[in-house]
Amino acid sequence: VWKDVPKGPEDAILGVTIAYNKDENPKKINLGVGAYRDDNGKPFVLSSVRAAEARIQSEKRPMEYLPVIGDKEFLSNSLKLAFTEDNEFLKNDLIASIQALSGTGACRLGAEFISRFHKSSTGMPLVLMPSPTWANHPGIFRDGGCEVGKYRYYDPDSCGFDLEGCVEDLKSAPVGSVVLLHACAHNPTGVDPTMDQWEVLSETIKRAGLLPFFDMAYQGFTSGSLDIDAGAVRKFVEDGHRVMLAQSFSKNFGLYGHRLGTLSMLTDSDKEKMAIESQLKILARTIWSNPPIQGSRIVNEVFKDNSFYNSWTEEMSRMANRIIDMRKQLSDKLVELKNPRDWSHITRQKGMFCYSGLSPAQVEAMKEQFSVYLISSGRISMAGVTSANVEHLATAMDAVTK
Ligand code: PMP
Repeated sequence: VWKDVPKGPEDAILGVTIAYNKDENPKKINLGVGAYRDDNGKPFVLSSVRAAEARIQSEKRPMEYLPVIGDKEFLSNSLKLAFTEDNEFLKNDLIASIQALSGTGACRLGAEFISRFHKSSTGMPLVLMPSPTWANHPGIFRDGGCEVGKYRYYDPDSCGFDLEGCVEDLKSAPVGSVVLLHACAHNPTGVDPTMDQWEVLSETIKRAGLLPFFDMAYQGFTSGSLDIDAGAVRKFVEDGHRVMLAQSFSKNFGLYGHRLGTLSMLTDSDKEKMAIESQLKILARTIWSNPPIQGSRIVNEVFKDNSFYNSWTEEMSRMANRIIDMRKQLSDKLVELKNPRDWSHITRQKGMFCYSGLSPAQVEAMKEQFSVYLISSGRISMAGVTSANVEHLATAMDAVTK
């Protein structure tokens, strides 16, 4: 029956892990991982999450379905986290929201919604994404029924942001296009606009008649501050944009496998809000019917209990700072080794990923000669760097670039 089904291509990151697992060199390093690791290279569960889990467990709560829209208390917590309690839209109950299967599910539901209700001037729902973007973005939005386009974002010469190219592309985008923006910790480049540059983008997007869709997968995990990391989203709201927002709780709460996220949309009236939520529920109903129950319970417990909340924010910034510290150590060691390249982008870039600027041939050489594994684009997952392996990594980077 299935003889004509072609085998699909392997995920690039999975290939890196398979090769890493086969390598017997004790100094081997896996820089492909997309989840946080502690300084011993181990996955990490936050103590506030463990404590909240234990409390929930002890209460022996029922395991009935959540409503299609999700857990209302969680949605309120999630919106406060992103927009702050003082936000006028939140206070006036003008934010449509739905619990989603983590950031991926929130993006997908957003795509399904856009494809039905937000055509651009081309007559098609069009979503423009930064070049490059998270490898899953094009597929999520395409499979959700949107046309997908690109705007310039990364400048390989500076390993930084191409503001000029970006603005030029956005200015010439069809009116009514959706612009996908990474709220912070751009994946895969680690390149985030400064607040001044966000100001320019906000103005450009408004003038061009485009709709901003923020994907915020790393709030609090990027700088260690929830407020700093939500700065761009909040600025766009202040500037009058009716933003769409996908939130993920995978990184900042370490809830990866619990699949917890939110899709929200700012609206102009109660009528609009109700209509949008009714449509989001119809969409979610046929995809996952109702969201998983445990992650939202955990977040609610953490929000309810001050000591849990303080412990959460403290551990979250510790994770962020460990990565920031590893960036510094890596760049210092390359300077110590008198490598001729300018590596200042390592500390300028933000979040889990560093777009190193290493070529595919240099990536290959790192693997062959040093058992250091990363994807061919040169993207380093900083979560895989530890005090114990940063020296070996710097040595490898130095050797292949001299
Ligand atoms: N958006 C971006 C930019 C990401 O990097 C990720 C995680 N890799 C996600 C969304 C979604 O992750 P999750 O589905 O686990 O929330």
